[in-house]
Amino acid sequence: MFEERGDPSLFRQVLEHGLQYMYSIPDRRVFPEGEAIAGLSHFEEPLPELPAEAKAVLHLLQQQGAPATVATTGARYFGFVTGNMVPAGQAAKLLATFWDQVSAMYVLSPLAAKLEQVVEGWLRTSFHLPGDVVAGFVSGSSVANLCGLAAGRYRLLQNQGWDVNRKGLAQAPPLRIVLGKEAHSTILKMVSLLGFGLDCVEWVETDAQGRIIPEQIPELDSSTLLVLQAGNVNSGAFDDFGAICRKAKEKGAWIHIDGAFGLWAAAVDSLKALTVGIEYADSWAVDGHKTLNTPYDSGIILCADQEALSSALHMSAGYIILSDHRDGMLYTPEMSRRARIVELWATMKYLGVQGIDQMIHELHRRAVQFAEGLASTKGFTVLNDVVFNQVAVACENDERTDQVLARIQQDGTCWVGGSFWKGRRIIRISVCSWMTTTEDIQVSIAAFQAALHAVEGSQA
Ligand SMILES: *Cc1c(COP(=O)(O)O)cnc(C)c1O
Repeated sequence: MFEERGDPSLFRQVLEHGLQYMYSIPDRRVFPEGEAIAGLSHFEEPLPELPAEAKAVLHLLQQQGAPATVATTGARYFGFVTGNMVPAGQAAKLLATFWDQVSAMYVLSPLAAKLEQVVEGWLRTSFHLPGDVVAGFVSGSSVANLCGLAAGRYRLLQNQGWDVNRKGLAQAPPLRIVLGKEAHSTILKMVSLLGFGLDCVEWVETDAQGRIIPEQIPELDSSTLLVLQAGNVNSGAFDDFGAICRKAKEKGAWIHIDGAFGLWAAAVDSLKALTVGIEYADSWAVDGHKTLNTPYDSGIILCADQEALSSALHMSAGYIILSDHRDGMLYTPEMSRRARIVELWATMKYLGVQGIDQMIHELHRRAVQFAEGLASTKGFTVLNDVVFNQVAVACENDERTDQVLARIQQDGTCWVGGSFWKGRRIIRISVCSWMTTTEDIQVSIAAFQAALHAVEGSQA
């Protein structure tokens, strides 16, 4: 019934199409046009009754799917905080698709176990974290945040003689949860999911950049989970870890740092001052797929308390075979999980300490260039200090900001998203692609200026 695996031409064709796609990216609109999106209607059909030819399946994807992709793998995608992929990581992912390894247990993939163990050490070094910090490799910082908070919940309750895995939360000694008012929405989601309840959060006021004001943090104690942020999604700002973490630790609080894209500042000489003090935290969430430019998806939970992390994410069954080696599922909520470590390993191996430093330093330089170009254009105001890779821009009023944003998106030279920050509509720029050159920034600034002039012209 099914075609043989013997015919490699299917794979050759896919590779050919993939390469064509990759090299056409610089000439493409960043966001697909109406016609490409209309072509997606070709996918609307009931589940076919009969098997198809594999080539026909792939042909449909190539013909109707590829045109409707967003060129996040180019140089001028500045939406959300979306990384590109460095070639070594991309190629490693391609190779690894042929292997299709599962990283639940050592016995499922000694290779994945080894790479996870090696990269765990590399991450500790990159972020200057203590030697007992362990890493779990998950899909993204959403899940990494879940893991860190679950580990904290487990530890703080265990310290009070309460085994939350067995006894649950209903009768448990109360925990407190302290968040900055600008905590990322995924933190709020995970706080809800873990049963804390958003109404029970103690919210801390933030400053003009979105940083927690240290003096406003309530008295902490050993029943408190404190969440800090390395990289605010709008401003890129970093909480003042130096002023906060050591004291919080002395009080016995569990400190979790959401460093989805910003934690990488710790690996950059010119930026690492932003992260001084992170080493006092108990858990850290960070992505490979944003700042580090690994392929999607790649998130990491780092935790200084291995027992808390593994206990919080614990499972066992008669057929589970744990080993003396690394069993990845002890550090993640999933059991089956693709070996995304291959791309992360390849990306770090390829870049090395100096490559990581240089690439991220350049992202920062490009963001500064973008901000300076817009700040010197009448009609745009840059609202944040560009300490990392994020730029928050606004026009004269919210309506104008939204109109200019819509024009920029329509134009297709680059793509940026909108946000709402500090009471205003903003255009949010995130420089996250290793490919972005100073020329790309110039062209994009020109697209911003043209959009502004068009909107002003239409209203004159
Ligand atoms: C992107 C982001 C997240 C969520 O990470 P995912 O990888 O998308 O799951 C959490 N926190 C911050 C600050 C982020 O920028």
